[in-house]
Amino acid sequence: MTSPFSNSPRPGTTVPSEEVLARLAAVVGPAYAITNKEQQAPHLSEWRERYVGATPMVLRPADTAQVAAILKIANETGTAIVPQGGNTGLVGAQIPFESGNEVVVCLGRLNKIRTVDPSTNTMTVEAGVILADAQAAAEEAGRLFPLSLGAEGSCQIGGNLSTNAGGTAVLAYGNARDLTLGLEVALADGRVWDGLRGLRKDNTGYDLKQLFIGAEGTLGIITAAVLKLFPKPRAVLTAFVGLQDPRAAVRLLHAAAAKAGGTLTSFELMQRIALDFVLKHLAGSRDPLNAVYPWYVLIEVAAFDEEAAVRPRFEALLAEALAEGIVGDAAIAASTAQAAGMWRLRAAMSEVQKHEGGSIKHDVSVPVGSVPEFLERADRRVAELIPEARVVAFGHLGDGNIHYNVSQPLGSDRQAFLARWEEVNAEVHGVVAALGGSISAEHGIGRMKRDLLPTVKSAVEMEMMGRIKAAFDPNGILNPNKLLRQDTH
Ligand SMILES: Cc1cc2nc3c(=O)[nH]c(=O)nc-3n(C[C@H](O)[C@H](O)[C@H](O)COP(=O)(O)OP(=O)(O)OC[C@H]3O[C@@H](n4cnc5c(N)ncnc54)[C@H](O)[C@@H]3O)c2cc1C
Repeated sequence: MTSPFSNSPRPGTTVPSEEVLARLAAVVGPAYAITNKEQQAPHLSEWRERYVGATPMVLRPADTAQVAAILKIANETGTAIVPQGGNTGLVGAQIPFESGNEVVVCLGRLNKIRTVDPSTNTMTVEAGVILADAQAAAEEAGRLFPLSLGAEGSCQIGGNLSTNAGGTAVLAYGNARDLTLGLEVALADGRVWDGLRGLRKDNTGYDLKQLFIGAEGTLGIITAAVLKLFPKPRAVLTAFVGLQDPRAAVRLLHAAAAKAGGTLTSFELMQRIALDFVLKHLAGSRDPLNAVYPWYVLIEVAAFDEEAAVRPRFEALLAEALAEGIVGDAAIAASTAQAAGMWRLRAAMSEVQKHEGGSIKHDVSVPVGSVPEFLERADRRVAELIPEARVVAFGHLGDGNIHYNVSQPLGSDRQAFLARWEEVNAEVHGVVAALGGSISAEHGIGRMKRDLLPTVKSAVEMEMMGRIKAAFDPNGILNPNKLLRQDTH
């Protein structure tokens, strides 16, 4: 993209002047324009500590008007802006580059729940509302906001929408995109688009909100959203199931979808080693089953009938699967506390890998029926490359989405192992491509997969994306060089 500042450097290539920084600080007030390195630190490194950036200033605006005012100044002065929500993103998109030329804009103070309307099953929340708080507000109104993921205590609605987050309830409710009816967005030039409509039907031209969802902060800054609510199920049944292999898990998935007695909301696949890591590193965790199985699934079914009506069908489903040899053993949670304990094991699987050394990550999807083949083929390729590497696979089988992680061989050198990141990626992504899958199922592209994007998208797709970026952010100030390369890094 060519810069409109014919004699000016591209945004992100030089540090903003003292004068520009003073103008930006004046928008939010000195207490919310952070220049102190210690106070900046939590905003400059991410959860996996793969990217550590630098910035002259972290801005914490209070409302939509302040976000818009920041963007107006940034656009006029060619200042690169990195939007940041809860900083739980896993592809480095929310972290500024190491150059120290980009200003970080944190949305955490836009944390009001504006309205919850059970009569229309909608709620309007600001971008900085933490996902768990949005869930709680829905619950208080007797409704369900179903988006659910391991980071829900920290991630924010703006970040969820900008990454089109998935999580554990996509099977029944869809991903963040499917849960959004309207948006309010501060545009790159400082105007505000009020698209906060709660309509279920609205065929009036291009559906603009869809462009901002999943855009990773490269097209505008989301300041508020109208989200869909759902009736709260009366009964939620959860089971932890041991089985021999992913093929058995796919058979159980089909049986559960047909016969579970309610709506299948979650179907999570987990390899034994992932559970082993949790049992080793998560205080107070215990194996829900007596025997050890190579694979497990965590099933959740939600129903609008009383539990007494649904439980027998759920039990019958599992009993039948046991009789047919599809599953080896199953424990149905007897209480919400037991169900929470099972979910705690699943939720810890990302975190505990850190204690086992370096881990090479893949967030991939393939058609559900191809998951077993994907795992078999990818395992073979990884074993050929690094024989002692430990594959730690788990994920949302119901969506064909596997987090295929490769932990370093025991006793090996962490840095030497991580140096093989691209090599391992190439093998695993090769299998994904052969099976018609995606190299980013739910975490996005960000910085981590930016240079892979042109290898999986056609020239036509890349050109359309470039044109959209140029139309919404002609000066290239919004999260430059994330998702799309702009040739400054
Ligand atoms: C333990 C753990 C488990 C996870 N599980 C899942 C999972 O199951 N499914 C899943 O999809 N993800 C998962 N994630 C990834 C992460 O939680 C999601 O990507 C989440 O949606 C990011 O939200 P955030 O508020 O932390 O955004 P950030 O990390 O702060 O930002 C992510 C991106 O959104 C942009 N952004 C943030 N706010 C705005 C805004 N208001 N306007 C415009 N752009 C903005 C940033 O610039 C960046 O590009 C997990 C992460 C962790 C640490």
